[in-house]
Amino acid sequence: MAIADKLRELSKNLYWAWHPEFIRVFRDIQPDLWREVNHNPVEFLRRLADQAVEDTYRDPRMSNRLTQAFHKLHNYLEASEVWGAWHAGPLRAFPVAYFSAEFGLHESLPIYSGGLGVLAGDHLKAASDLGIPMVAVGLAYTYGYFEQSLDASGWQHERYFSASEEALPLELVKNEYDQPVRIAVRTESYEIWVGIWQVRVGRNLLLLLDTNVDGNSDEDKALTSRLYGGDRRTRILQELILGVGGMRALCQLGITPSIIHLNEGHSAFAILELARTLMERDGQSFHNIREQAAGMTVFTTHTAVPAGHDVFEPALVEHALGPLRQQLGLSPRDLLALGRSDPNNEAEHFSMTILGFRMSRSRNAVSFLHARLTKAIWYHLWPGVPQHQVPINYITNGVHVDTWLSEPMADLYAQYLGPDWRERMDDPRTWDAIGNVDDIELWEKNQQRRAHLVEYVDRCVQRQEKARTGQETSEYVQHAKLDPNALTIGIARRFAVYKRMDLLFRDPARLDRLVNNPQRKVQFIFAGKAHPQDERGKYLIQTVFRFTRDPRFVGRVVFIENYDINVARHLVQGVDAWLNTPRRPLEASGTSGQKVAVNGGLNISTLDGWWAQAYDGDNGFAIGRGGEHSNLDYQDQVDIQALYAVLENEVVPLFYDRAADGIPHGWIARQKHALRTLPWRFSARRMVVDYTLGCYLPAAGGLTSSLRVDVRLLSDVLGQARAGRPT
Ligand SMILES: *Cc1c(COP(=O)(O)O)cnc(C)c1O
Repeated sequence: MAIADKLRELSKNLYWAWHPEFIRVFRDIQPDLWREVNHNPVEFLRRLADQAVEDTYRDPRMSNRLTQAFHKLHNYLEASEVWGAWHAGPLRAFPVAYFSAEFGLHESLPIYSGGLGVLAGDHLKAASDLGIPMVAVGLAYTYGYFEQSLDASGWQHERYFSASEEALPLELVKNEYDQPVRIAVRTESYEIWVGIWQVRVGRNLLLLLDTNVDGNSDEDKALTSRLYGGDRRTRILQELILGVGGMRALCQLGITPSIIHLNEGHSAFAILELARTLMERDGQSFHNIREQAAGMTVFTTHTAVPAGHDVFEPALVEHALGPLRQQLGLSPRDLLALGRSDPNNEAEHFSMTILGFRMSRSRNAVSFLHARLTKAIWYHLWPGVPQHQVPINYITNGVHVDTWLSEPMADLYAQYLGPDWRERMDDPRTWDAIGNVDDIELWEKNQQRRAHLVEYVDRCVQRQEKARTGQETSEYVQHAKLDPNALTIGIARRFAVYKRMDLLFRDPARLDRLVNNPQRKVQFIFAGKAHPQDERGKYLIQTVFRFTRDPRFVGRVVFIENYDINVARHLVQGVDAWLNTPRRPLEASGTSGQKVAVNGGLNISTLDGWWAQAYDGDNGFAIGRGGEHSNLDYQDQVDIQALYAVLENEVVPLFYDRAADGIPHGWIARQKHALRTLPWRFSARRMVVDYTLGCYLPAAGGLTSSLRVDVRLLSDVLGQARAGRPT
């Protein structure tokens, strides 16, 4: 096989996205182009001449790397000694179908907007690593989410780019006659045709549904082009395609899931299509198979904020679901009742979250605190059940460690935890060996991580300023340079009001004193987007932007535009500490701080979301003591004081209190304690194991884990199913 073809083959499995040695196989051919194409190997190879590839690969070191990468991928794909083989055999023939409106797998695949998508991406990667058969279903947004830039006043502007399918790691799903597989979804008045792309995510597949196919009106072709774009009608049709279309796509491809896992309510219509197929199979009424469908459904709710829950007016529901409703033998009122808290209230809109709760038997929030709040919000769906007994559990979110891990720390773990630490990362004993790391060595890693980040931030600031002013360089760029030795704190997330991204600036004089002590400099790196319709969020961005221009804070506070997986990865890998200031109890979980934790950074956070569970007094810092006040201004006041106090009295002294060897041993001790107590608990590996043992296997019919079945690739099953099946 020609080198370029080999590389193209590697580029078609996103396995490269969590393996730096694979990335080097591409990047080192032409590093500038690699950056220019946003680290997208498919586009990279399209833009490179095959000759350039051949030239680079004349170097035996490069061809050696490629050979090794190939081996590694094939060994991975063919491995049978995986966790799933021993513990999740029953899922082998009937996999988990995982539905999500977004998947954040890599910056070059623009089908995510933020935390929900990144979590779904991490879930898929961890399921692949564990060898858990899973097929994921999403939508093929070619426009994706917006790119953010700030103008000279700090106001956010949004730009949408259309990516062509050839520039993405997508393969069109075809039948044995080499014809694209298509399915149809029927609304009240007409049919929408849907094509299917597949993305290989390690051992598993992600199917992306696309209405941009012949036979659809122009309007319908655009249905799946944008993530969370368009009006309510577009939204419900997107959700119809995701849920109902997704189930039909699986069926068409011969995949029979044993469980459907709905990542948030957007895909909840899938349950209705599942019910329909069960009715058809067993010749039963909806009433009779209802429990069975619910028993196969795992529903995860992700937000405590009302705007995060989709509701639709009854006429829209009838428009989108009329034909399916008739097949289910339900009256409009019966159907609407499934999504209403009061089935008799004709005025009530249809809630996707309520549908999810009513029609699933495994319901999860994403942290302990979030479960408590979710029960308090939804207890009325279970009349007569005391609030604490409302049947909603929680599985705390976690992050896919390899996706977020810096290379210096990966080297350290390989050395101290053992070469096979990845297979044992969810075992606390694995991390005890961190105690053996020499303080000097860990400090050295901190210096490397921070220097790399500071360089990256300088590059970003330069590029942003150039875009804003048209000038190559400016006085601002010179002064905004960060110090590679200063305490570096990151704070990045969506600019939603409850996250209070401006909290740090409520007392600028006090902040000035904190950051400008020449012996104890502190620098903050901000990033985050506001929802395009959220004027208050945009206003908060502008507030932060103005402080980056305030002479007191130039070079102490910078803003990196266009927060995405790439920006996130750089930040979490390099910072000393991570600041998180949500108004408790509104942060469902939060995962960015977990990404920092796997890199040895320390969290400074209100006791909300995952941190309320994780903080033990010594593995990071708490802002306040977890108080909640009904007067929000008062709560803000309390938290502001607590924020400054923890920075002034704990964080800054611990970082700058140096022994004669120049090393802050107290800081390092806290880092080591954090590494012993956090990554094993908050990894996606632990999360997916929890889902498998706690939800998937019980829902798959109570089959026990003693069955040993060889794990083959889901794509093989798919191939066989397709070959033996006329379409
Ligand atoms: C991890 C991540 C998030 C979610 O982090 P939170 O802590 O929930 O804010 C959002 N956006 C991006 C790009 C991420 O990588």
